[in-house]
Amino acid sequence: MFQAYVRDGVTCVEMTVPEMGKVFAFLVDGMLVDTGPQRYESDLVSFYGSVSFDLVALTHSHEDHSGTAPWIQDNLDVPIYVHPKGIDVCAQAVPYPKYRQDTWGLRKEFKVLPMKDTITSRNKEWNVIYTPGHANDHNCLFNDETGTMFSGDLFVSPKTKVIMRNESIPERLDSLRSLLTYDFGSMFCCHAGYIEDGKVAIGRKLEYLENLYGEVKNLHEEGLGIEEIDEKLFRKKYPITFVSEGEWDSVHIVSSIISDLK
Ligand SMILES: [Zn+2]
Repeated sequence: MFQAYVRDGVTCVEMTVPEMGKVFAFLVDGMLVDTGPQRYESDLVSFYGSVSFDLVALTHSHEDHSGTAPWIQDNLDVPIYVHPKGIDVCAQAVPYPKYRQDTWGLRKEFKVLPMKDTITSRNKEWNVIYTPGHANDHNCLFNDETGTMFSGDLFVSPKTKVIMRNESIPERLDSLRSLLTYDFGSMFCCHAGYIEDGKVAIGRKLEYLENLYGEVKNLHEEGLGIEEIDEKLFRKKYPITFVSEGEWDSVHIVSSIISDLK
């Protein structure tokens, strides 16, 4: 399903992928924030035809955010920006495993420009906040006049149960803490969509992950191994763990915390 609607001055493009849930792209003040998955290219292309934007800011290079960037590059004369660490990934065609190709489609290579500390849309200046943990090229965007925050994939859900192998809970904790130093209200999450009080949501997530960190630390100090801690804290295994052949697993939550303790 594909739909677009406005929340607090931001056009939210909501796309539902049955096996993975929702993914969003956003449009504000002539700036497109993320470009959805390639799987939704035909809907997105007709959406692009109905609106106007002169700049694309990617929160990170993952294929569900950068899927139609190659089409934009080939067909519209607008610059595309990402964190400098994402430039190499964007230069590669389909740099992700088969199950993600099946879910999100095939994203071709494209050229991006490095995002600096600020990015300027038609009438607004956005602070670019480096927020690794989910991806090493992840940025959030914040406008302090309106208090609007684009949080990319930093939030996603209040209670994280599985993460990808390359993700880091300790880094994510630092990123959540740095986001809370900004005074924001409306938050636009690329998987949860519009969240009216973003700061409260980020605070709750931080609290959940801090508690989880403490639990893992205690069990580790009691002498339990990674697998044992995983079994104790996360009894349920999710289908994504099997579908992704372990790229998504709760065990990565535990191991990323333990490697921080050393
Ligand atoms: Zn992502």
